[in-house]
Amino acid sequence: MIDTPYYLIDKARLLRNMEAIAYVRERSGAKALLALKCFAAWSVFDLMREYMDGTTSSSLYETRLGHDQFGKETHAYSVAYCDNEIEEVIAYADKVIFNSISQLSRYAKKASGIGCGLRINPLISSSGFDLADPARPFSRLGEWDVNRIEAVMDQISGFMVHNNCANGDFDLFDRTLGEIEARFGAFLKRVRWVSLGGGIFFTGDGYPVEAFADRLKVFSEKYGVQVYLEPGEASVTKSATLETTVLDILHNGKNLVVVDSSIEAHMLDLLVYHERAQLAPDTGDHSYMVCGKSCLAGDIFGEYRFPHPLKIGDRISFQDAAHYTIVKKNWFNGLKMPAIAIRELDGSIRKVREFTYADYKQSLS
Ligand SMILES: *Cc1c(COP(=O)(O)O)cnc(C)c1O
Repeated sequence: MIDTPYYLIDKARLLRNMEAIAYVRERSGAKALLALKCFAAWSVFDLMREYMDGTTSSSLYETRLGHDQFGKETHAYSVAYCDNEIEEVIAYADKVIFNSISQLSRYAKKASGIGCGLRINPLISSSGFDLADPARPFSRLGEWDVNRIEAVMDQISGFMVHNNCANGDFDLFDRTLGEIEARFGAFLKRVRWVSLGGGIFFTGDGYPVEAFADRLKVFSEKYGVQVYLEPGEASVTKSATLETTVLDILHNGKNLVVVDSSIEAHMLDLLVYHERAQLAPDTGDHSYMVCGKSCLAGDIFGEYRFPHPLKIGDRISFQDAAHYTIVKKNWFNGLKMPAIAIRELDGSIRKVREFTYADYKQSLS
Protein backbone atom coordinates (compact mmCIF):
# COMPACT_ATOMS: atom_id res chain seq x y z
CA MET A 1 0.00 0.00 0.00
CA ILE A 2 1.24 3.46 -0.91
CA ASP A 3 0.69 6.15 1.71
CA THR A 4 -1.74 8.85 0.65
CA PRO A 5 -1.78 11.46 -0.68
CA TYR A 6 -0.66 10.50 -4.16
CA TYR A 7 -1.54 11.11 -7.76
CA LEU A 8 -2.24 7.84 -9.50
CA ILE A 9 -1.71 7.93 -13.26
CA ASP A 10 -3.55 5.10 -14.95
CA LYS A 11 -1.81 4.00 -18.14
CA ALA A 12 -4.84 2.13 -19.48
CA ARG A 13 -6.91 5.30 -19.28
CA LEU A 14 -4.10 7.37 -20.71
CA LEU A 15 -3.95 4.93 -23.60
CA ARG A 16 -7.57 5.71 -24.54
CA ASN A 17 -6.62 9.35 -25.14
CA MET A 18 -3.46 8.33 -26.96
CA GLU A 19 -5.44 6.12 -29.32
CA ALA A 20 -7.85 8.95 -30.13
CA ILE A 21 -4.87 11.22 -30.83
CA ALA A 22 -3.23 8.58 -33.02
CA TYR A 23 -6.47 8.22 -34.99
CA VAL A 24 -6.68 11.96 -35.65
CA ARG A 25 -3.01 12.10 -36.65
CA GLU A 26 -3.42 9.28 -39.08
CA ARG A 27 -6.65 10.45 -40.65
CA SER A 28 -5.72 14.15 -40.88
CA GLY A 29 -1.95 14.16 -41.31
CA ALA A 30 -1.70 16.60 -38.39
CA LYS A 31 1.06 16.17 -35.81
CA ALA A 32 0.27 16.21 -32.10
CA LEU A 33 2.58 17.75 -29.51
CA LEU A 34 2.00 17.36 -25.79
CA ALA A 35 1.62 20.75 -24.07
CA LEU A 36 3.92 20.31 -21.09
CA LYS A 37 2.40 23.15 -19.11
CA CYS A 38 -0.64 20.93 -18.61
CA PHE A 39 1.07 17.65 -17.85
CA ALA A 40 4.76 16.90 -17.47
CA ALA A 41 4.91 13.67 -15.47
CA TRP A 42 7.74 12.26 -17.52
CA SER A 43 7.54 8.75 -16.13
CA VAL A 44 4.74 8.01 -18.59
CA PHE A 45 6.39 9.67 -21.60
CA ASP A 46 7.57 6.26 -22.82
CA LEU A 47 3.95 5.38 -23.48
CA MET A 48 2.92 8.79 -24.83
CA ARG A 49 5.88 8.99 -27.20
CA GLU A 50 4.48 6.07 -29.18
CA TYR A 51 1.34 8.06 -30.01
CA MET A 52 2.48 11.67 -30.21
CA ASP A 53 5.05 13.61 -32.22
CA GLY A 54 6.80 15.53 -29.45
CA THR A 55 6.19 18.37 -27.04
CA THR A 56 5.48 22.06 -26.93
CA SER A 57 6.46 24.31 -24.10
CA SER A 58 5.97 27.66 -22.47
CA SER A 59 9.40 28.22 -20.96
CA LEU A 60 13.06 27.25 -21.17
CA TYR A 61 12.67 24.54 -18.54
CA GLU A 62 9.73 22.94 -20.30
CA THR A 63 11.61 23.04 -23.58
CA ARG A 64 14.54 21.31 -21.93
CA LEU A 65 12.33 18.70 -20.28
CA GLY A 66 10.60 18.01 -23.59
CA HIS A 67 13.90 17.63 -25.38
CA ASP A 68 15.51 15.47 -22.68
CA GLN A 69 12.61 13.31 -21.52
CA PHE A 70 10.22 13.08 -24.46
CA GLY A 71 12.40 13.63 -27.50
CA LYS A 72 11.03 13.60 -31.05
CA GLU A 73 9.97 17.11 -32.08
CA THR A 74 10.44 19.95 -29.59
CA HIS A 75 8.55 23.22 -30.04
CA ALA A 76 9.49 26.17 -27.89
CA TYR A 77 7.19 29.04 -27.12
CA SER A 78 7.24 31.67 -24.43
CA VAL A 79 5.26 34.82 -23.81
CA ALA A 80 8.65 36.52 -23.57
CA TYR A 81 12.20 35.20 -23.74
CA CYS A 82 15.10 36.92 -22.05
CA ASP A 83 18.59 37.41 -23.43
CA ASN A 84 20.22 34.91 -21.08
CA GLU A 85 17.97 31.98 -22.00
CA ILE A 86 17.34 32.25 -25.73
CA GLU A 87 20.49 30.42 -26.82
CA GLU A 88 19.72 27.45 -24.61
CA VAL A 89 16.13 27.38 -25.88
CA ILE A 90 17.37 27.30 -29.48
CA ALA A 91 19.80 24.50 -28.66
CA TYR A 92 16.93 22.27 -27.43
CA ALA A 93 14.20 23.27 -29.86
CA ASP A 94 13.33 22.28 -33.42
CA LYS A 95 11.11 25.34 -33.76
CA VAL A 96 10.82 28.47 -31.70
CA ILE A 97 7.57 30.40 -31.73
CA PHE A 98 7.69 34.04 -30.72
CA ASN A 99 4.78 35.75 -29.06
CA SER A 100 5.38 39.15 -30.61
CA ILE A 101 7.01 40.78 -33.59
CA SER A 102 9.29 42.59 -31.20
CA GLN A 103 10.59 39.28 -29.77
CA LEU A 104 10.89 37.84 -33.26
CA SER A 105 12.97 40.78 -34.44
CA ARG A 106 15.15 40.62 -31.34
CA TYR A 107 16.00 36.92 -31.70
CA ALA A 108 15.29 35.85 -35.30
CA LYS A 109 18.94 36.04 -36.27
CA LYS A 110 20.04 33.83 -33.38
CA ALA A 111 17.29 31.36 -34.27
CA SER A 112 18.00 31.34 -38.00
CA GLY A 113 19.26 27.73 -37.85
CA ILE A 114 15.84 26.42 -36.73
CA GLY A 115 12.31 27.24 -37.78
CA CYS A 116 10.86 30.49 -36.44
CA GLY A 117 7.15 30.94 -35.86
CA LEU A 118 4.91 33.76 -34.75
CA ARG A 119 1.85 33.53 -32.55
CA ILE A 120 -1.15 35.20 -34.05
CA ASN A 121 -4.15 36.32 -32.06
CA PRO A 122 -7.38 36.08 -34.07
CA LEU A 123 -9.22 38.12 -31.41
CA ILE A 124 -11.84 35.40 -31.13
CA SER A 125 -11.94 32.51 -28.73
CA SER A 126 -14.09 29.74 -27.36
CA SER A 127 -13.51 30.79 -23.78
CA GLY A 128 -16.17 32.37 -21.67
CA PHE A 129 -13.77 32.75 -18.78
CA ASP A 130 -11.77 35.96 -18.88
CA LEU A 131 -8.77 34.55 -17.00
CA ALA A 132 -8.17 31.91 -19.68
CA ASP A 133 -9.28 33.88 -22.73
CA PRO A 134 -6.33 34.63 -25.03
CA ALA A 135 -8.59 37.03 -26.95
CA ARG A 136 -9.57 39.04 -23.88
CA PRO A 137 -9.39 42.81 -24.25
CA PHE A 138 -5.83 44.16 -24.27
CA SER A 139 -4.45 40.62 -24.57
CA ARG A 140 -0.64 40.29 -24.77
CA LEU A 141 -0.93 36.87 -26.43
CA GLY A 142 0.04 37.11 -30.09
CA GLU A 143 -0.04 39.54 -32.99
CA TRP A 144 -3.26 40.50 -34.78
CA ASP A 145 -2.38 43.41 -37.06
CA VAL A 146 -2.10 42.07 -40.62
CA ASN A 147 0.03 44.99 -41.80
CA ARG A 148 2.58 44.41 -39.09
CA ILE A 149 2.59 40.66 -39.74
CA GLU A 150 3.09 41.25 -43.49
CA ALA A 151 6.32 43.07 -42.72
CA VAL A 152 7.93 40.03 -41.04
CA MET A 153 6.68 37.24 -43.31
CA ASP A 154 10.17 36.62 -44.68
CA GLN A 155 11.43 35.79 -41.17
CA ILE A 156 9.01 33.01 -40.30
CA SER A 157 8.16 29.52 -41.50
CA GLY A 158 4.94 29.07 -39.54
CA PHE A 159 2.23 30.37 -37.25
CA MET A 160 0.82 29.29 -33.94
CA VAL A 161 -2.70 30.20 -32.91
CA HIS A 162 -4.15 29.09 -29.59
CA ASN A 163 -7.66 30.39 -29.19
CA ASN A 164 -9.59 27.37 -27.96
CA CYS A 165 -10.12 26.71 -24.30
CA ALA A 166 -11.87 23.62 -22.99
CA ASN A 167 -13.78 23.55 -26.29
CA GLY A 168 -15.77 20.34 -26.75
CA ASP A 169 -18.00 21.85 -29.45
CA PHE A 170 -16.79 20.87 -32.92
CA ASP A 171 -19.07 23.37 -34.68
CA LEU A 172 -17.61 26.18 -32.62
CA PHE A 173 -14.07 25.01 -33.46
CA ASP A 174 -14.99 24.80 -37.14
CA ARG A 175 -16.55 28.26 -37.14
CA THR A 176 -13.65 29.99 -35.40
CA LEU A 177 -11.15 28.26 -37.67
CA GLY A 178 -13.16 29.62 -40.59
CA GLU A 179 -12.86 33.12 -39.14
CA ILE A 180 -9.12 32.66 -38.76
CA GLU A 181 -8.93 31.61 -42.41
CA ALA A 182 -10.94 34.64 -43.49
CA ARG A 183 -8.64 37.01 -41.65
CA PHE A 184 -5.24 35.38 -42.14
CA GLY A 185 -5.73 33.05 -45.13
CA ALA A 186 -3.36 34.93 -47.41
CA PHE A 187 -0.59 34.52 -44.83
CA LEU A 188 -1.34 30.86 -44.19
CA LYS A 189 -0.60 30.11 -47.84
CA ARG A 190 2.90 31.53 -47.44
CA VAL A 191 4.12 29.41 -44.51
CA ARG A 192 5.04 25.74 -44.17
CA TRP A 193 3.31 24.91 -40.90
CA VAL A 194 0.45 26.10 -38.71
CA SER A 195 -0.08 25.05 -35.13
CA LEU A 196 -3.67 25.28 -33.98
CA GLY A 197 -2.76 25.15 -30.29
CA GLY A 198 -4.53 23.27 -27.54
CA GLY A 199 -7.88 23.57 -25.83
CA ILE A 200 -9.74 21.29 -28.25
CA PHE A 201 -11.45 18.41 -26.40
CA PHE A 202 -11.30 15.96 -29.25
CA THR A 203 -10.54 12.97 -27.01
CA GLY A 204 -13.79 13.39 -25.06
CA ASP A 205 -16.70 10.96 -25.28
CA GLY A 206 -18.91 11.71 -28.25
CA TYR A 207 -16.61 14.19 -29.96
CA PRO A 208 -16.92 13.83 -33.76
CA VAL A 209 -13.28 12.86 -34.33
CA GLU A 210 -13.84 11.93 -37.99
CA ALA A 211 -15.26 15.36 -38.83
CA PHE A 212 -12.51 17.01 -36.80
CA ALA A 213 -9.74 15.10 -38.58
CA ASP A 214 -11.31 15.79 -41.98
CA ARG A 215 -11.53 19.50 -41.19
CA LEU A 216 -7.82 19.53 -40.33
CA LYS A 217 -6.98 17.71 -43.52
CA VAL A 218 -8.93 20.15 -45.68
CA PHE A 219 -7.23 23.05 -43.91
CA SER A 220 -3.81 21.50 -44.39
CA GLU A 221 -4.37 20.88 -48.11
CA LYS A 222 -5.93 24.26 -48.78
CA TYR A 223 -2.93 26.16 -47.45
CA GLY A 224 -0.25 23.58 -48.12
CA VAL A 225 0.83 23.46 -44.48
CA GLN A 226 1.77 20.86 -41.93
CA VAL A 227 -0.84 21.19 -39.18
CA TYR A 228 0.14 20.77 -35.55
CA LEU A 229 -2.11 20.27 -32.56
CA GLU A 230 -0.92 21.00 -29.02
CA PRO A 231 -3.23 18.99 -26.79
CA GLY A 232 -2.68 19.39 -23.08
CA GLU A 233 -5.85 18.45 -21.27
CA ALA A 234 -7.10 16.36 -24.22
CA SER A 235 -3.97 14.19 -23.92
CA VAL A 236 -4.52 13.27 -20.30
CA THR A 237 -8.18 13.77 -19.58
CA LYS A 238 -9.58 11.30 -17.03
CA SER A 239 -6.28 9.47 -16.78
CA ALA A 240 -5.31 10.10 -13.15
CA THR A 241 -6.83 10.31 -9.69
CA LEU A 242 -5.74 12.04 -6.51
CA GLU A 243 -5.85 9.47 -3.74
CA THR A 244 -6.55 10.80 -0.24
CA THR A 245 -7.56 9.53 3.19
CA VAL A 246 -10.13 10.91 5.64
CA LEU A 247 -8.34 12.30 8.71
CA ASP A 248 -11.20 13.86 10.65
CA ILE A 249 -14.96 14.18 10.67
CA LEU A 250 -16.78 17.24 11.96
CA HIS A 251 -20.29 18.64 11.97
CA ASN A 252 -20.98 22.31 11.64
CA GLY A 253 -24.44 22.54 10.10
CA LYS A 254 -23.17 20.09 7.50
CA ASN A 255 -21.22 16.87 7.69
CA LEU A 256 -17.59 17.72 7.05
CA VAL A 257 -14.58 15.54 6.46
CA VAL A 258 -10.96 16.64 6.30
CA VAL A 259 -8.64 14.69 3.99
CA ASP A 260 -4.84 14.54 3.90
CA SER A 261 -4.62 16.79 0.85
CA SER A 262 -5.60 20.29 -0.18
CA ILE A 263 -7.33 21.72 -3.21
CA GLU A 264 -5.24 24.88 -2.86
CA ALA A 265 -1.98 22.94 -2.86
CA HIS A 266 -2.75 19.87 -4.98
CA MET A 267 -5.62 20.72 -7.37
CA LEU A 268 -5.20 24.45 -7.56
CA ASP A 269 -6.66 24.85 -11.02
CA LEU A 270 -10.10 23.88 -9.75
CA LEU A 271 -10.05 26.64 -7.18
CA VAL A 272 -8.86 29.19 -9.70
CA TYR A 273 -11.69 28.31 -12.10
CA HIS A 274 -14.35 27.95 -9.40
CA GLU A 275 -14.88 24.29 -10.13
CA ARG A 276 -15.22 21.41 -7.72
CA ALA A 277 -13.27 18.20 -7.82
CA GLN A 278 -15.06 15.15 -9.18
CA LEU A 279 -15.89 12.01 -7.28
CA ALA A 280 -17.31 8.86 -8.78
CA PRO A 281 -20.00 7.71 -8.45
CA ASP A 282 -21.16 10.55 -6.12
CA THR A 283 -24.41 8.82 -5.19
CA GLY A 284 -25.94 7.53 -1.95
CA ASP A 285 -27.80 8.72 1.13
CA HIS A 286 -24.91 10.27 3.03
CA SER A 287 -23.65 13.68 2.10
CA TYR A 288 -20.39 15.30 3.13
CA MET A 289 -18.44 18.40 2.38
CA VAL A 290 -14.89 17.21 1.68
CA CYS A 291 -12.29 19.71 2.88
CA GLY A 292 -8.55 20.07 2.57
CA LYS A 293 -6.12 20.18 5.48
CA SER A 294 -4.57 23.56 4.76
CA CYS A 295 -5.68 26.43 6.97
CA LEU A 296 -7.33 28.26 4.06
CA ALA A 297 -11.01 28.57 5.02
CA GLY A 298 -12.18 27.87 1.49
CA ASP A 299 -9.97 24.83 0.99
CA ILE A 300 -12.95 22.69 -0.04
CA PHE A 301 -12.95 20.01 -2.74
CA GLY A 302 -16.75 19.92 -2.93
CA GLU A 303 -19.89 18.33 -1.53
CA TYR A 304 -20.60 14.74 -2.45
CA ARG A 305 -22.90 11.83 -1.75
CA PHE A 306 -21.64 8.52 -0.40
CA PRO A 307 -23.37 5.15 -0.07
CA HIS A 308 -22.37 4.76 3.60
CA PRO A 309 -21.31 6.99 6.52
CA LEU A 310 -17.66 7.98 6.23
CA LYS A 311 -15.18 7.07 8.92
CA ILE A 312 -11.62 8.08 9.66
CA GLY A 313 -9.23 6.14 7.43
CA ASP A 314 -11.63 5.89 4.47
CA ARG A 315 -10.12 6.50 1.06
CA ILE A 316 -11.42 9.32 -1.12
CA SER A 317 -10.32 9.27 -4.73
CA PHE A 318 -10.73 12.44 -6.78
CA GLN A 319 -11.26 11.82 -10.48
CA ASP A 320 -9.77 13.51 -13.53
CA ALA A 321 -6.69 14.69 -11.67
CA ALA A 322 -4.02 14.63 -14.38
CA HIS A 323 -4.35 18.00 -16.08
CA TYR A 324 -2.99 21.15 -14.46
CA THR A 325 -2.53 19.39 -11.11
CA ILE A 326 0.87 17.74 -10.83
CA VAL A 327 2.48 20.68 -12.65
CA LYS A 328 0.84 23.17 -10.28
CA LYS A 329 1.22 21.50 -6.90
CA ASN A 330 2.87 23.71 -4.33
CA TRP A 331 4.18 23.75 -0.79
CA PHE A 332 1.44 25.89 0.76
CA ASN A 333 1.22 25.26 4.49
CA GLY A 334 4.23 22.96 4.17
CA LEU A 335 1.79 20.15 3.45
CA LYS A 336 3.16 16.83 2.34
CA MET A 337 3.18 16.88 -1.43
CA PRO A 338 1.34 13.96 -3.05
CA ALA A 339 3.63 11.24 -4.34
CA ILE A 340 3.31 10.18 -7.98
CA ALA A 341 2.35 6.59 -8.75
CA ILE A 342 1.54 4.76 -11.96
CA ARG A 343 -0.91 1.97 -12.60
CA GLU A 344 0.77 -0.09 -15.28
CA LEU A 345 -1.14 -1.75 -18.09
CA ASP A 346 -1.00 -5.07 -16.19
CA GLY A 347 -2.74 -3.45 -13.20
CA SER A 348 0.28 -3.28 -10.92
CA ILE A 349 0.90 -0.01 -9.13
CA ARG A 350 4.34 1.48 -8.73
CA LYS A 351 5.37 4.63 -6.88
CA VAL A 352 7.71 6.68 -9.08
CA ARG A 353 8.29 9.75 -6.95
CA GLU A 354 8.01 10.78 -3.35
CA PHE A 355 8.48 14.26 -1.97
CA THR A 356 10.07 14.74 1.41
CA TYR A 357 10.96 17.41 3.90
CA ALA A 358 14.24 17.86 2.04
CA ASP A 359 12.34 18.84 -1.14
CA TYR A 360 10.28 21.33 0.83
CA LYS A 361 13.35 22.83 2.46
CA GLN A 362 15.23 23.01 -0.83
CA SER A 363 12.42 24.91 -2.45
CA LEU A 364 13.16 27.69 -0.01
CA SER A 365 16.18 29.47 1.35
C1 LIG B 1 -2.25 26.06 -22.67
C2 LIG B 1 -1.78 25.87 -24.05
C3 LIG B 1 -1.93 24.62 -24.68
C4 LIG B 1 -2.62 23.44 -24.03
O1 LIG B 1 -3.94 23.76 -23.73
P1 LIG B 1 -4.98 22.65 -23.23
O2 LIG B 1 -6.21 23.45 -22.94
O3 LIG B 1 -4.43 22.02 -21.99
O4 LIG B 1 -5.15 21.69 -24.33
C5 LIG B 1 -1.44 24.49 -25.97
N1 LIG B 1 -0.84 25.53 -26.61
C6 LIG B 1 -0.68 26.74 -26.02
C7 LIG B 1 -0.01 27.83 -26.75
C8 LIG B 1 -1.15 26.95 -24.73
O5 LIG B 1 -1.00 28.16 -24.16
